[in-house]
Parts: sequence; structure tokens; C-alpha cells
Amino acid sequence: MDFTPSPEVATLRERLLDFIEAEVYPRERELMAALDEEVAPGVPYPANLVAVREKAKGEGLWNLFMPDQRYGPGLKNWEYGLLCEEMGRSPMVAPMAFNCAAPDTGNMEILAEHGTAEQVERWLEPLLEGRIRSCFSMTEPEVSGSDPTLLQARGRLDGDEWVIDGHKWFTTGAVGAELAIAMVVTDPEAPPHARASMICVPTDAPGFELVRPISVMGHDGGPGHCEIRYTECRVPAANLLGERGAGFAIAQHRLGPGRIHHCMRAIGTAERALEMMCRRANERVAFGGPLADKQFVQEAIATSRMEIDQARLLTLYAAWKMDTEGKRAARQAISAIKVVAANMVMDVLDRAIQVHGSLGMTDDTPLAALWRFSRMLRLADGPDEVHKMVLARRELNRWAKRAEAEASGEPLDPRHPARMV
Ligand SMILES: Cc1cc2nc3c(=O)[nH]c(=O)nc-3n(C[C@H](O)[C@H](O)[C@H](O)COP(=O)(O)OP(=O)(O)OC[C@H]3O[C@@H](n4cnc5c(N)ncnc54)[C@H](O)[C@@H]3O)c2cc1C
Repeated sequence: MDFTPSPEVATLRERLLDFIEAEVYPRERELMAALDEEVAPGVPYPANLVAVREKAKGEGLWNLFMPDQRYGPGLKNWEYGLLCEEMGRSPMVAPMAFNCAAPDTGNMEILAEHGTAEQVERWLEPLLEGRIRSCFSMTEPEVSGSDPTLLQARGRLDGDEWVIDGHKWFTTGAVGAELAIAMVVTDPEAPPHARASMICVPTDAPGFELVRPISVMGHDGGPGHCEIRYTECRVPAANLLGERGAGFAIAQHRLGPGRIHHCMRAIGTAERALEMMCRRANERVAFGGPLADKQFVQEAIATSRMEIDQARLLTLYAAWKMDTEGKRAARQAISAIKVVAANMVMDVLDRAIQVHGSLGMTDDTPLAALWRFSRMLRLADGPDEVHKMVLARRELNRWAKRAEAEASGEPLDPRHPARMV
């Protein structure tokens, strides 16, 4: 494994960082405030962010996530991961500035792979151009989101229309979105992982009700994390995305790269927090010298550096595994990074807040907002415990199979078990 970026990716990374320094940092708070105030039905982005996005698009810093070369640069997962890290330095704004924000990225990927010509024209193209936003509507308040086989929302065919009934929440980005991709049970009698399908629902379809943006840690502005009711919501049969009953397979397809993106952004967030921690420690004086001279502070800095670099290497490894051996082979590594990066970023942010003292709790630095934003990562796209359960099961299974093979007396293949899976 060699994670030295190609000249193309190294240049993109430099240009992204230049852009973030020139266009995002100086107006980060202004852009976040405008997102809160201006985003509304029919208004996907506030005016000041539209201006930044136009500039990024003009400079070709646009849709960098897109693996499909028909629609984007076709970077490998680990290459885009390096760029994602830099966007994660300002995770609430920079991904949007470059049209690389979740959940649009995952939605665009699945529309590119599974969409019909009509779906591509109606939703993928405007999403790629940045004219609209979209959301992904799977989790439901009444049943455990960790176990999506419990989904209750239903879609039934009535002539040439799907009729959807269900209650969703945490549909991120629904305010101002034109499209919701809803995961609903269409075949309740099928085996658990073949029951659900994905259906494209325009947010102005009759029966689609945005009940509220939920207040999350005191914040309910911007595109929001929304509660949605689907009541006899009717959309054309042609709005089915991919095969009927393929909802789980498509969701898995979407989540693999999405988790790498989330983790690399978390690493970028942690890098920014560490940089702030060091700058503050160098200049703040207490007990006769800078905080930088205190061993407890040095411990916070050294531990953060080690943890960030461990998380980055593991995440790049997961991305490399996905690029070289496919999504299935990378599942174990992806579960691992999802836990490691999500916890690492919270720990580093916590230390950075501590070193800043009371200033760290204020909104005068980005740390508090980054902490609030990053906390979701231990839950969204699978809570820590579920990823650990999956990791442990696969690991146990591997050794059970090995024991079986050893007992059979047949030559072992591979002769020595792999260490990194
Ligand atoms: C900010 C944010 C944004 C989100 N955005 C979206 C979105 O855009 N679209 C969408 O559909 N969903 C979204 N989600 C929902 C997210 O995917 C779910 O919250 C997640 O899948 C967990 O489901 P749940 O909340 O129902 O928790 P539950 O399933 O009720 O689990 C609660 C807790 O139980 C524990 N637990 C669960 N299973 C196990 C187990 N097997 N062993 C041990 N402990 C266990 C874990 O600690 C877990 O956190 C978002 C969530 C957040 C917080």
C-alpha cells in the first residue's frame, strides 16, 4: 500500500485547501447562519453559499466524490478520501461548497448506478449541477434503526402508482430538498433482506408531509434532521429506484463509500482541532509559562496526533481494500473505521475544548459546533455497538471455520491466516 497521492490528486488537494482558506474559513459562521436562516422549501442553499459554490464549480472543484467517470473525476476511494479529509476541516460548510455533501453524494451514486434514464434526467443531472438537494428517508421513530429489517413504512402498487404510508425521522436535509429517496417495505412476505425497496419521492408529492426539523442538541435550523409522514403518498410506479426488493442491497452499496467519506471528514475535523489546540497551547500562559510546556497538555497533543494518524491509516486501508478487492471484502475494515474514527474525533475535540478552557465552550471558536456536529457519527450509518457486533461475529466465524478446516486434516488455504482483514 502506498498512499502517496498521484500528481492530479496532490494538486486537487492543494487547490481545495487554498479554496477553503480563502473562501470558507473567513465566512464560515456567516455561511452557517445563512444556512439556518434562508434554507426553506424551494430554497436548497442560501445566497452567500450559492456564490461560493459557483466559484468552486467554476474552478472545477466540483463533484469530486463521483466514482462514475460519466459524471465525475472517477477517483479511487482512497484518493477521494484524502480530499474528503480536507473538506472535513469545515464539515458543515466545505462539503456543500464543493457539491460533495451527504446525503446528496450517496443519493447521486445510487441514482448513477441504478437510476432509469428518466430518473437520471429528472434528479441526477440537477443534483450534479447543484440546482437541487435531496434526502434519504430510512430511519423510523417507532422501530430500531440499527436493525432495518424492522422497517414498518409500506409501499404498495395501485395501478401505475406506488402508495406509500409510513413515519420516518432523521431524514437529514429534507428542508429545501426536492427529492426524498424513501426505503419502504414493498414485499412483506419476502425474506427479511428482500422486503424493502427504494422509491424516489418528490417532496411536493401529495401525502409527503415534512412534520418538523427535529431539534438536535439545541439546533433545528438549516436543511435539518426531519420528521416526515407519508400518508397515502402517491408517486408513479416508474419512481422505483433499482429492482423491487433490492433496497437493502442498494443501501449497502451506498453505505460503504459513504462511511469512508464520513470517517475521512472526521479525521479532517480532528486535524483542525489539533491545530487549534497547539496554537492555543503555544500562546496561552499560566503558572509561569505557556500551556505548551505543561505535560498534561503535551499528553493531550501527543495522544491526539497518534490517534488521528492511526485512524487515517486504518481508513485509507479500508478504502484501498474497497478499491482493490471490492466492497464486500472491505466490510470488516469499514466497520472498524466507523467505530475508530467516530470515537477519535470526539476525543480529540474534547481535548481541544479542554485546552481552550471556557473559550472552548463558546461559539467564538468552531470547536463547540464541531463537537455537536461530530457526535452523530457514533450513531448515523450504524451505531458503534452494531459495528462491533458485526466485527466480532465475522472474526469469530473466521476462527470457527479455521478450526473446522484444521479438524478435517485437509491442507489449509491460506496456510497461515491473514492478519488484517
Ligand atoms: C444526526 C443524525 C443524522 C441522521 N441522518 C439520517 C438520514 O439522513 N437518514 C436516515 O434514514 N437515518 C438517519 N439517521 C439515523 C441513524 O441512522 C440511526 O439513528 C441509527 O441507525 C440508529 O438507529 P436508532 O436511532 O433507531 O437507534 P436504536 O436502533 O434504537 O439503537 C439505540 C442504541 O442501542 C444500542 N444498540 C443497538 N443495537 C445493538 C446491538 N446489536 N448490540 C448492542 N447495542 C445495540 C446502541 O447503543 C444504539 O445507539 C441519522 C441519525 C443522526 C443522529
